[in-house]
Amino acid sequence: MFAILPGMAAIFLNPDRDYSVMRRHPWIFSGAVERVEGQPEPGETVVIHAADGRILGRGAWSATSQIRIRVWSFNPDQAIDEAFIQARLAQAIAGRGALLAGNVSNACRLVNAEGDGLPGVIVDRYDSFLVCQFTTAGAERWKPVILEALPQLWPCAGIFERSDVEARVHEGLAASCGSVWGEAPPDRIEIREHGCRFLVDVRQGHKTGFYLDQRDNRACVAPYATSGDMLNVFAYTGGFGVVALAAGAASVTHIDQSADALALARENARLNVCDVDDADFVAGNAFETLRRFRDSRRSFDVIVLDPPKFVDARKHVMAACRGYKDINLLAIKLLRPGGILATFSCSGLVTPDIFRKVVADAAVDARRDLQIIQRLQQAPDHPEGLGFPEGLYLKGLLARVLD
Ligand code: SAH
Repeated sequence: MFAILPGMAAIFLNPDRDYSVMRRHPWIFSGAVERVEGQPEPGETVVIHAADGRILGRGAWSATSQIRIRVWSFNPDQAIDEAFIQARLAQAIAGRGALLAGNVSNACRLVNAEGDGLPGVIVDRYDSFLVCQFTTAGAERWKPVILEALPQLWPCAGIFERSDVEARVHEGLAASCGSVWGEAPPDRIEIREHGCRFLVDVRQGHKTGFYLDQRDNRACVAPYATSGDMLNVFAYTGGFGVVALAAGAASVTHIDQSADALALARENARLNVCDVDDADFVAGNAFETLRRFRDSRRSFDVIVLDPPKFVDARKHVMAACRGYKDINLLAIKLLRPGGILATFSCSGLVTPDIFRKVVADAAVDARRDLQIIQRLQQAPDHPEGLGFPEGLYLKGLLARVLD
């Protein structure tokens, strides 16, 4: 048990830095590594030793990232081989059973990286196609095995790769996009969600094409907009607004800075309801547009704020909070008495507590009382490891203005 395993590099952690691995946190930062015995290649499996020599598990070596190792398994005896990767994929897909069997959607996340014990591996299903993202050196190394296993585990027409994320730069990996197995997907894949139809651009769209993580929240917010006027800020391809229109909203005004996203939002709205006004799609900066709406005294019954990630470095959390406060303050002022605010943060570094405080600060400045009706988070096909709080990246508040 204390021996160094032949053929594999051995990583020894600093004495005060092995605690988090023992707590089953899957990230090991460069500062936690005391020494490396051997010369691991990027993505190669290394054996992780506590300072006293005990084996704590095995992980993938990232030579250039601050996160030097991502743990595959905390079992000291577990070999990381094809069978291990296949079993983890099978377990992840089996875990989506209820969602896959139901009629809620034909699009869902099948593999959620750390949340499914497969750091760096994301697999999303859009109807009969799979879209994959490999964000780390370890995931990249196992890509051929994963691509071979997936069509057997989930019979599909084709697999498309969208490994064009910023994280790959830190891993020393070039972007890689394109069809990797079977048929190439059409330019737009039509999916269903909550009885609505959506066109998804898996080639160019954000993430793998659609914000699957907001699925449950779209259904949760929609009923509050029935017969009312909704403002869907950071609308992307219309998600929250389309589900609300289908639920009987009188109007939905969409704001997004991306004209392409808004064009698809308009198409998506038209696919589901006949009466869609071009003026309801406002291309522009959300902060400026909300200020303009405030100055022209517009008001709404429901406002959704779903901004992009504002921060990915700890030192920028304060600046991000100012951004969140600003946008929430503007939104709270635009709500009619009794109106509903659905406000989100997908910045992992902004914790639910911090986020609540920021929204509370905004309400104080707006001089309005709000009650929290429900706390929201990412959909269950985006599970978070119990030992990995960073896995809860999307949090939201559904709140009502009391006056
Ligand atoms: N709510 C959406 C997802 C939103 S993603 C859904 O359910 O599908 C965030 C969106 O914010 C992106 O479409 C991006 O184009 C837009 N965005 C980013 N910064 C912006 C800004 N300053 N003003 C307006 N839109 C912005």
